[in-house]
This record gives sequence, structure tokens and C-alpha cells, in this order.
Amino acid sequence: MACDLLNLATPGVTGLQPYQPGKPIEELERELGIDNIIKLASNENPLGPGVKVKQAILSTSEISRYPDGNAHGLKMALAKYHDVNDDQITIGNGSNEILELITRAITEPQHEIIFSDHAFAVYPLVTQAVGAKAIVVPAKDWGHDIVAMQAAINKNSRVMFIANPNNPTGTWLNKRTLRTLLESSPEHMVIVVDEAYFEYVQEDDYPNCVQWVNEFPHLLVTRTFSKAFGLAGLRIGYGISHKDIADLMNRVRQPFNVNNPALSAAETALADSEHLQQSVKLNQTGMQQLTSAFDRMGLQYIPSVGNFICVDVEQSGMEIYKKLLHEGVIVRPVDNYGMPNHLRITIGLEEENEKFINALDKVLTGINAVS
Ligand SMILES: *Cc1c(COP(=O)(O)O)cnc(C)c1O
Repeated sequence: MACDLLNLATPGVTGLQPYQPGKPIEELERELGIDNIIKLASNENPLGPGVKVKQAILSTSEISRYPDGNAHGLKMALAKYHDVNDDQITIGNGSNEILELITRAITEPQHEIIFSDHAFAVYPLVTQAVGAKAIVVPAKDWGHDIVAMQAAINKNSRVMFIANPNNPTGTWLNKRTLRTLLESSPEHMVIVVDEAYFEYVQEDDYPNCVQWVNEFPHLLVTRTFSKAFGLAGLRIGYGISHKDIADLMNRVRQPFNVNNPALSAAETALADSEHLQQSVKLNQTGMQQLTSAFDRMGLQYIPSVGNFICVDVEQSGMEIYKKLLHEGVIVRPVDNYGMPNHLRITIGLEEENEKFINALDKVLTGINAVS
């Protein structure tokens, strides 16, 4: 019976594996019977949202009414913030929805979607969901090989996904590399630059691609409130593009895809630069704390400009992940990203980072002592 129902799936959906989220804290506490578990697994902001945002959420009065399907207030605020027109903005239920909307709006099974090996897991998911062909380009030094990605473009190419910086590797592309790609790529495809971690990046040569959308009509930049702004649980992100691309995405999105509390929280968060700065600063010191510890422990890591870092544990990352769970620390195994010996750790509060470092030390030296 069940098999017959599964046979109803379209070819793309047949091969689809659901996205694997990080384990929720409550679930693990129940399973292991321990508490005070910390989660450094999903690149959330350890400070959460600021006080003003919490107030904005609590004072959202219009719960019985449908939200503004056009998100007028937030779009005006974003238009001002980014110096673009409001018709260039698409609001999504997380920026993941934007990735899905662009794919659904312009891709059919005969088309190809290009992305890098070790890139964000949602790219293969949305590709498969529309039954398009995924062109996975081998990575270079864990990062996107833009020259090879460009060489993969042909007349069937419809979308290219670029994560800058990339999750889970934390690698990034500079201004010149991305501009060269945009200048030399054809306009029968959309180049999506996913800037989910934009606010965290401190490098001078890191591009703000939003500044280029009026120059390159085939560029779509995505941003999110889930990471540095601390609103992952509310699900809100956005795309900035040529107005025609925004128009296409608006045709396929659900009319009320983003809820009232999320809209008012996002607008408030955008104006709270103080909390953002505090979040970025905490991330910098936390990153330093982790990399110093890895250096001390003699562990290699991939230098990251995001709020997470991949460390090479020189053995099965999944096994170390499981042992860390018993120490009350949830991190992210990345074997499904083709990185079986790495773990991805989200930068947490100072004491959370400390707890992770001690747990890792214990788990790794424990193994060495046995072998
Ligand atoms: C977290 C993340 C997103 C954003 O997800 P939301 O749907 O906005 O929560 C997008 N891209 C990358 C690379 C990410 O890591």
C-alpha cells in the first residue's frame, strides 16, 4: 500500500531526502536523560534577538488578521537600508524560501542548476524538487571554484547558487572573482548569491552584492534574519534583484508566506544596529576562542568568516559527534556534505564555547588513550 503511494512521486521527489536539521535540545535531553545541553549546531545567534525585537514581537496585536501579503512596511525599510526600490525586494519564509521560489519560477526538468561540492544542503534539495539536473562542481581548497563553475555553464543552465560565505565550510569569494563571474555569465540564467552570513564578514575585499543588482539584471542576492539578527525561529529572509525577477517570485509564492510577528520583528531588528554589532563582536571573540583551542590541540580547521567553523577531527566526525552528545554538546556532523572527518561548530557564548572545547578535548584524548 505505502509503496503505491510513494510511486505517485514525481521523478525529482522520488530521490529526495528530507533536509536533516540539527537535533533539538529537548529531544536529546529526553533521550539521554541529561540536562543543560548546549546546541552549537545550527548557526543561530547565541544572543538571540535584542530587547526591542522581543518587545515588537509581544506587541504584535494583529494575530487574528492575515499579515500584509506585500510586507509593505518591511519592504520600505529594506529599500531604504539597501538603497534599492521596494519592487526589487521579495520577502520569504526564511531565505530558503527565496532559493526555492526562484528555482520553481524559472526551472523545468530539462534545465541545469550549478552549485559547488560541499555547498549549502538546500541547493540540491530545491534542484531535485523541480526535477532539474544538478551540476555539482568540485570544490577548490574547500571553497567554490568559480572558474570551474563558470566553465559548467551551457545553454541549459538556469540557476547558479553561490554561497558567500559558504555553509558549512566558511570559505568566501572576493569582489573581483564574483564580478568577473557576473560580467561573463549569460543572462538566460540567474546567478543567486546567498549572503546569509553577510553581517558577520569583516574582510575588506568581501563584496556586498546588493550594490550590484542594478548593474546585473540576472543577479539575485539573498539575505536572512535567521543568523546575525537572531530570528531563525520566526522564519524570515529576503531576496534583492531586478524587479522582473522579484515579480516572477511573487507569482509563485504563497500570498501570506510571512507572519505578522516575523514582519514586525524583522523591521525592528533592521533598525537595531547596536544589537547587531554586539552579535558580530561576540562572534569574533568566540571564533578566536575556538581557533586558539584547535591550534592548541593540534587540529586543522577551515578558516571561516561566518559564525561557525569546520574542524578536522582526523577520524569519523559522526562518531565524535555522538560522543559529544553524551557530554551535553550538540554540534553538526557534515558527512552528508562530503566531509566525513569534519565537524561544524557554531560559535556560541563564551561559556558554551568553553564547554565544547573541554568536551572535545575529553572525547579526543579518551580515544587516543584507548587506541
Ligand atoms: C542558514 C542559511 C540560510 C538561511 O536560512 P533561512 O531560511 O533564512 O533561515 C541560507 N543560506 C545558507 C548558506 C545558510 O547557511
